Amino acid sequence: MPPKTSRENFIRSIADLLRKAEIELPDDVVDALKEAEAREENQVAKSQLQAILRNIEIAKNHGVPMCQDTGIMIFFAELGTEFQPGFNIETAIKDAVALATREVPLRPNAVDPLTRKNSGNNTGAGIPDIHWKLVSGKQLKITVAPKGAGSENMSALRMLNPTETGSIKNFVLETVINAGGMPCPPLVLGVGIGGSFDKAARLAKEALLEPLDNPLTDFEKEILESVNALGIGCMGLGGSTTALSVHIKTAHCHTASLPVAVNIQCWANRHASIVFGEEE
Ligand code: SF4
Repeated sequence: MPPKTSRENFIRSIADLLRKAEIELPDDVVDALKEAEAREENQVAKSQLQAILRNIEIAKNHGVPMCQDTGIMIFFAELGTEFQPGFNIETAIKDAVALATREVPLRPNAVDPLTRKNSGNNTGAGIPDIHWKLVSGKQLKITVAPKGAGSENMSALRMLNPTETGSIKNFVLETVINAGGMPCPPLVLGVGIGGSFDKAARLAKEALLEPLDNPLTDFEKEILESVNALGIGCMGLGGSTTALSVHIKTAHCHTASLPVAVNIQCWANRHASIVFGEEE
């Protein structure tokens, strides 16, 4: 049965969802890390991958966040046109973030960008960041993806010349090279191509939610192979796995534009989802 959608139950469910996302990595991410560890021949990189896998196990067994940087809260909400919440979903999500910050607990990361004053509860102007999508139906699907700064800070966006489609791969590689070991590789790379300046960045972030066991397109495979040939490796210490996967999302763009965004995600590719409302 889907959870009931009173405001109290909604806040409880979202706070629990946040706890789950912080403590337990999705199976496809854990499997990809295990496969990387099994493949790795560089002994230093192998030991780092083993440490990451041990870290994941300890976090799950002890119910504690898998990383000290518990991130800022990015939400994706797919709102059914016939879903009737009866309360303001955005303020309820904000309250849930504050509750999870106290309960889990989570590191308070949200600060005013100029004064650097910390709100103390991971909420603030524009935070949590909620990406809305209207869909048909009677359900509301919420996904939370806590995003650490180490990987977010190494992400990049470039407005390429529209004739430069052949430069997209180089831009991704340049971004990964500039990042080096800073974003805690092995990475997942979300690439947004097209749309507008901001749409490309949103596509790149959405691409990070793609299951890692989904088959890759030829272009995604080509980029992944080139990224892994860089030899940056786990935690920047060398080896064959700089990235676990590359996912590309595209949108039509202006004939005079070619926006490309690369959203870098560390190994802690945290996200969890819940569905509210009547089953269809
Ligand atoms: S980049 Fe990821 S693994 Fe590294 S400190 Fe940040 S959240 Fe943690």
